[in-house]
Amino acid sequence: MNYISTRGQIGKDNSVSSMYAIKTGLACDGGLFVPETVPALTKEDITRLCTLDYPHRAADILGRFLTDYDSAYLLESAQKAYGEDRFPGGAAPMTKLDGTRNILELWHGPTCAFKDMALQIMPRLLTGALKGTGEERTAFILVATSGDTGKAALEGYKDIEKIRITVFYPEEGVSRVQKLQMATQTGDNVCVCAIKGNFDDAQNGVKKIFSDREYAKLLDKNGLFLSSANSINWGRLAPQIVYYVSAYCDLVSRGDIDLGDSINVTVPTGNFGNILAAYYAKLMGLPINKLICASNSNNVLTDFLKTGTYDRNRKFYTTMSPSMDILISSNLERLLYLICGAEETAGYMKKLAEDGCYTVSADCLAKIRESFDGAFCDEKETADTIRTTFDADKYLIDTHTAVALKCANGYIAETGDKRPMVIASTASPYKFAVDVLAALDGKPQGDPLESLEKLSALTGTQIPAPLSGLDKREVRFNKSINKEDMLEEISGELGI
Ligand SMILES: *Cc1c(COP(=O)(O)O)cnc(C)c1O
Repeated sequence: MNYISTRGQIGKDNSVSSMYAIKTGLACDGGLFVPETVPALTKEDITRLCTLDYPHRAADILGRFLTDYDSAYLLESAQKAYGEDRFPGGAAPMTKLDGTRNILELWHGPTCAFKDMALQIMPRLLTGALKGTGEERTAFILVATSGDTGKAALEGYKDIEKIRITVFYPEEGVSRVQKLQMATQTGDNVCVCAIKGNFDDAQNGVKKIFSDREYAKLLDKNGLFLSSANSINWGRLAPQIVYYVSAYCDLVSRGDIDLGDSINVTVPTGNFGNILAAYYAKLMGLPINKLICASNSNNVLTDFLKTGTYDRNRKFYTTMSPSMDILISSNLERLLYLICGAEETAGYMKKLAEDGCYTVSADCLAKIRESFDGAFCDEKETADTIRTTFDADKYLIDTHTAVALKCANGYIAETGDKRPMVIASTASPYKFAVDVLAALDGKPQGDPLESLEKLSALTGTQIPAPLSGLDKREVRFNKSINKEDMLEEISGELGI
């Protein structure tokens, strides 16, 4: 299985291996790597996967996409990444709310957000790729984060040989807990820096550095090369396909559905990575009917799915679900490629870069809407959903999951579609304790760290170990720079 660019400049003739795609992150024409074909998942395959544990399921699915990796290496990597020590109680457990709605809890890893699902295994995939491609340079991972990716990447890549990592985050765009998690990061090969701007500023700055050929040469001279851990990297996407397949298997194993029955999936969406992984699972043959793309007040995707026009020229809202405060959803490019091919995609991306806006053809929109439905949820509805879900179902959710749940409820009510709905739960409620607590008791909250204790006392649930005692850890990184100075910052850090 080889990989090509969504923009078609590297065609079938010079496609690359999965190791190369994971090592470099971004195609040289600015496009994103996608597999040439989508491997099939048959009924027999699913039957067999139902009998396996999560690491074996992961190794099986990954092996279909990452064909140049040794299968024993993939299994060993999955067992280490998803073991009991990192995911106590299992990697992706599912809680049944009622006969229709199931919450797929993707936040039981070391940083309490779903990014761990990919970023615990991705460093192993990168290490495998460095070895497998005879790479002698050190990989320099550069990350722009809206909060959760940064911490998860730092945790995944810390103290790994031949890898260095720098994370930029928007100073005002992440929660206090997220900030503390990053500022106290351990490891000798890590660096964290705030920028004065929003997430898109951070992401654009990082993208600019990635496309700077002169800088790449300078890095090369110093025995370094750039690699990405953002969901533009295929190594992030592939592990996310696994948990949708796994959730389906669990529904079959529990007797909630018969093999072959279709389900719906709702995903709280920012960069469009998580929901795209679900779409890949559908393309493989997993019986998924509709994918509901749930947004917060930054509802650029809701509008796109309704009208076919993607327009990032709009007000940016800082919400209580900050990991979804995004106006350029990078992975939408992969969906466009899958639906309408490289040539059209390259055109749309050019328009996006120039005008911040593009409109897809009617045919393209119709095809997208066969699989996708879009909805959004404002701040009040998010808070209401947290409260009513706790009151009615005795189940505590975070702000991002609340956005998804509200949109899922809306879809079920409007369509009457009673297929089992899998709702991706992307963060522990404790990661966003201030807003979760305010939603429950209606009072504005004081100190963010005290909120963790209060939330625990109020709900009778436990603070996850990775989030307790955050204020007692040493702060190692507290720098904040202008968005124009990112290049200078990393050069200083790398000493080049
Ligand atoms: C990253 C993140 C999202 C958005 O996921 P995308 O793959 O960017 O669409 C949603 N919720 C949480 C908690 C996240 O960390």
